[in-house]
Amino acid sequence: MTAKGGTHAVEIAITCPKCQGEGSFKTWDCIDTDKNPELRERLLHDPMLFFYFCPKCFSRIRIDAPCLYIDRGREFMVWLVPDTNMEMNLGELRDFFGAGDYENYCCRMVRSWGEWREKIIELESSYDDRLYEFIKYGAFHLLKEEEKKQFYLPAYHVEYAEDNEKNDELALIFMKNDEDKSTYSYPISKNMLEISNDIFQPLMERIPELSGKGAFQRYDYDWAQMVIDHLLSAAMGASGNDKDSLKKIIVLWFQGLGKEIFGADIEPHKD
Ligand SMILES: [Zn+2]
Repeated sequence: MTAKGGTHAVEIAITCPKCQGEGSFKTWDCIDTDKNPELRERLLHDPMLFFYFCPKCFSRIRIDAPCLYIDRGREFMVWLVPDTNMEMNLGELRDFFGAGDYENYCCRMVRSWGEWREKIIELESSYDDRLYEFIKYGAFHLLKEEEKKQFYLPAYHVEYAEDNEKNDELALIFMKNDEDKSTYSYPISKNMLEISNDIFQPLMERIPELSGKGAFQRYDYDWAQMVIDHLLSAAMGASGNDKDSLKKIIVLWFQGLGKEIFGADIEPHKD
């Protein structure tokens, strides 16, 4: 394999699953946004970008192919790897992309297009992307059970709050299960980011595996849930009074989240 070193187009042979007709799909296996900012625009705003239209039966087929997205200016990479059996590391990055010093890059791995664009938006912010995952999990967790059922969890995501895409001004987007697919947008305030940073950053710093650099990690909703559950059950090595204070801090964080996101006093509840 020759190292790509930048944006790289590929053509994939496609056999239509509906009519068995042959065709090909032009896409990319690497997008370098500094060189091709127009591809960032398309990736973020064109949901049809990864659909193949069969020229014979006109079926629309989603193409799930791996693609590495790199933002050199902000020093991050997000590798879309749809195959759930595949993991990526720096060695594979060097083989694929070329030799270089990537130690300072935030490297993330995602499994779907939706997750990909969400992660890019989070990483364009000046805050740690994982704080958004905590806030995302925390806000959904605050909903009552009957409210949770009204929303479609896979469509729940972090997005730019406004069309002008100001960094650090992101929002939580909820989509209802109703016919209209009504969406609700709740801005994530700077205050909430600062509070979350103060609470979670020191906890993450204690765990070397969470340095967030140099390895392609997957930090998503499920990950945030796992960490918060661990913190609540104080399984992070704390003892005695430390346990109680850690729990108190997390409970206070949930309460702050309810106020900041929903503008309401919502008590965290047990599932
Ligand atoms: Zn077809």
